[in-house]
Amino acid sequence: MTLPLSNSIRAQDAKHVVHPHTNLRTQPEAEPLVITRGEGIYVIDDAGNRYLEAAAGLWCASLGFGNARIAEVAAKMLTEIGYYHIFRGAANAPAAELSAKLSAIAPEGFDHVLLQCSGSEANDTAIKLVWYYWDAKGAPQRRKIISREQSYHGTSTITSCLTGKPKFHTGYGLPFDGFLYTAMPYYYRNARPGESEQDYSTRLADELEEMILAEGPETIAAFWAEPLLGSGGAIVPPDGYYEKIQAVLAKYDILFVADEVICGFARTGEMWGSQTYGMRPDMITCAKALSAAMQPISAVLIGERVFEQMKVQSDRFGSFTHGYTYAGHPVAAAVALEVLKIYEEMDLVGHVKALEPGFLAGFEALKDHPLVGDSGGVGLIGAVEIVADKETRAMHPPELKVMQIFEERASRNGLITRIIGNRIALSPPQIITAAEVEEMFARLRRALDETAQAIA
Ligand code: PLP
Repeated sequence: MTLPLSNSIRAQDAKHVVHPHTNLRTQPEAEPLVITRGEGIYVIDDAGNRYLEAAAGLWCASLGFGNARIAEVAAKMLTEIGYYHIFRGAANAPAAELSAKLSAIAPEGFDHVLLQCSGSEANDTAIKLVWYYWDAKGAPQRRKIISREQSYHGTSTITSCLTGKPKFHTGYGLPFDGFLYTAMPYYYRNARPGESEQDYSTRLADELEEMILAEGPETIAAFWAEPLLGSGGAIVPPDGYYEKIQAVLAKYDILFVADEVICGFARTGEMWGSQTYGMRPDMITCAKALSAAMQPISAVLIGERVFEQMKVQSDRFGSFTHGYTYAGHPVAAAVALEVLKIYEEMDLVGHVKALEPGFLAGFEALKDHPLVGDSGGVGLIGAVEIVADKETRAMHPPELKVMQIFEERASRNGLITRIIGNRIALSPPQIITAAEVEEMFARLRRALDETAQAIA
């Protein structure tokens, strides 16, 4: 039963809203999911159906949905000032306090914070900083950027190029020259029979080195990686991967940028995915859980090596010629600062670490399910991979629409997940409890059972 108000919303939506990542021809006829309220890790639609939101929206709603404390902070800042910028030496208290706090919780050596509004903007800006750095160093020919196949880093013009999924290039005449994609670390599907995780990592590092040598090391500016591939399928890297990749980067003096837009703020069990996997990046980009997704804000955390050269460029050109109107927005910054306070109070890292064994046990238990091939994760992020044959790991034929059937069954069981190809990713709000983790896996199993029945 839908309410009249919703009908008018549906009509307006169908006629006027251009939906991202959606078929624009069929969307107006489709029944949209109209979420009207949230309570903790649950969202409620306009017909009163309650869903356990196991994707945290778009991997971002770390504190769940609806938060009176955050609302108060935002209202106070809106009342006091509403807006002011941080250009040309202007400062505001929330932006200053947030930057100091971020530096304090960042891995050591990230004392400089460039506030932006989205994950795409943060990565976009970090690409400019990479080029700025090499220009300052007298090596402007170092332009090429290497990311991984199937990676996702945003959809601005330049971050679409950084993103390693061809569907984000097609039709736009992208990528621009100078964006290269090395293999993604996907042990379950791409390792050779009998190859150990360490050997697979060695092979990927060798492939990266071959690419660098073929292109000319003096032309490579930076390597970009998410600690674990989020939108690439919630895929955990194999043992030894970053250690071996970083040895290659160091050998050719290539900058390393960690995209922590999903992994930042304890998603992988440490405050940063870089800490979980022993990564030593020159810059870190973060967004999403920075404000628990309650305001659009992101940040580039800049290490000393890069910041020194930004100062050199400021001397040369008179100023750092980059910045957005809403960078350091006082309302967004105040919200993010409050979110970081909440993380401290709830001991976010400790909370995720305490939940991790139960979360991973849920994935382990699903390995016996007839539809499940790969199953696992880290911290509070992971995925199950749906296969037609557990032995050969063959996938179902697309015409069976198995993932669509699953999504519909999950919805009927009050569960929202993130579907990526034949993988079902879970990244629930970090406020989830141990009992709710169990409930999430119970709903997932029911949806999988019903999917298996439907395709039998
Ligand atoms: N980087 C990663 C790893 C992401 O997952 C995303 C978005 O999902 C982005 C960057 C882009 O962030 P935004 O959508 O805020 O531009």
